[in-house]
Amino acid sequence: MSRIIFWLALVFLVIFAIRSKIREAQKRHQQQFREPQQPAGRAAGQAEARVVAEAETMLQCAHCGIFYPASETVQARGRDYCSAAHATLPGV
Ligand SMILES: [Zn+2]
Repeated sequence: MSRIIFWLALVFLVIFAIRSKIREAQKRHQQQFREPQQPAGRAAGQAEARVVAEAETMLQCAHCGIFYPASETVQARGRDYCSAAHATLPGV
């Protein structure tokens, strides 16, 4: 009888150890992929606003659908293209 109790206790210990290891790994995984927290402080907020102000408008090419900076646009027939090659293609 004592042998059965010993083995049952051993099995429970092993299960408990495995479950705690899994929980630990999940916690580590969640911390790794959690979104970076909002930067605290006024300076960080200003830096973020500057990045947004410097961001350039993106346009989509009427031929290939790629997004590119608006400053590189090639306009033809009232539409925006990513390059002169796509702008001059017939029937686009
Ligand atoms: Zn294109």
